[in-house]
Amino acid sequence: MTRRAPTVALAVLLTVLCLALVVTVPWTPLPGADVVPDPARDFTAAQIAREVAFHDALRPTSYASLAVSLVLLTLLGLTRVGARLVRAVARPLGGGWVWQVLLGTLAVTALVRLVTLPLRARSESVLRAYGLSTQTWPSWLLDVGRGVLVDAGLTALALLTLVGLGRVARRTWWAWGAAATALLVVAGSFAYPLVVEPVFNSFTSLPAGPLRDEVLDLAARDGVAVDDVLVSDASRRTTALNAYVSGFGSTRRVVLYDTLVARATPQEVALVVAHELGHAEERDVLVGTALGALGAAAAVCALALLLSWSPVLRRSGAEGIHDPRIVPLVLALVAVGSFAVGPASNLVSRRIEARADVHSLDLTRDPRTFADSQRRLALANLSDLDPHPLAYALFATHPSTTERLAMVREWERLRG
Ligand SMILES: [Zn+2]
Repeated sequence: MTRRAPTVALAVLLTVLCLALVVTVPWTPLPGADVVPDPARDFTAAQIAREVAFHDALRPTSYASLAVSLVLLTLLGLTRVGARLVRAVARPLGGGWVWQVLLGTLAVTALVRLVTLPLRARSESVLRAYGLSTQTWPSWLLDVGRGVLVDAGLTALALLTLVGLGRVARRTWWAWGAAATALLVVAGSFAYPLVVEPVFNSFTSLPAGPLRDEVLDLAARDGVAVDDVLVSDASRRTTALNAYVSGFGSTRRVVLYDTLVARATPQEVALVVAHELGHAEERDVLVGTALGALGAAAAVCALALLLSWSPVLRRSGAEGIHDPRIVPLVLALVAVGSFAVGPASNLVSRRIEARADVHSLDLTRDPRTFADSQRRLALANLSDLDPHPLAYALFATHPSTTERLAMVREWERLRG
């Protein structure tokens, strides 16, 4: 395989991705705002101390879990251990390449989850100690198992496609693979609410009543077509209050946690819904999916270039993309790549979330409830009020509560 074509394709895709980011991301969600977070302004010293103690207990295990996963995957990918594992798990079933990819992906995913299980259990017990988790250990373990199957299933689908293409088109697999992976991202995001979400939760329509009327009325005022509002049984896992939108086109849905419906006031629910309507109106899921598809296509081109670099390939014990023993190496490269682009994608996500916040204020014109509910949500969910820059970069997909509170003050100054 020549390296020229994938290099050119990668450069083109990255350029398009950068241009798309410049055009679609709301870099200044509230023009003219000067957002200066100040936890002490809205929270007492005791409230801050409780949240800090919680995160001090939780963060080391999050970092450790991340580090252990990356190191283990790198070891499996860049030594022959991973290749041997792929061969071994498929042998009882005849060792065909499809079984090697399927079971190899499952084995690597399960192994990483198993090795990090004590750390995850430690996080879970911290959540319980602070009253945030409502799970029992059996249901928690069941979730871990379901998570492994869903993760491995979705990953195996992509890997089967790439390895299969590698076997039929030795020279041009990466071009077909880039297109196929981009399509898989789009199809996955579209089908996610129908295929993946039901594995973890059950959903019911928000029952008829004043709350439902208010939500649908809000959507109508906003000019967003919403046929149904769903409630998920989040309370079987968590006490946290939340809501989200997922899917696009015919699978688009607004989902409220049952905890939110049970414990928030109608005004608070209205604000949360107005935020989600902001996502729907701006087609954030669809735009995010398109950006993800571009990123995935670029990642396949980068993968082709890395695999054409023989020291990497030799270390993995695989002969090329057509060889199913490539699975651990690809998983390692994906993990390292996702880790590397995580801070950038979180930054984009925070800007999009801030725009949805501004939308909710513009729609409800209710900054007082916004500020009150942000304070209450932060206390109920034990949000990080003053996140460490590293934690903020690695994990924060939303602006911090104190940023949101500073933003609402700026909204009042500019538009109130
Ligand atoms: Zn949001």
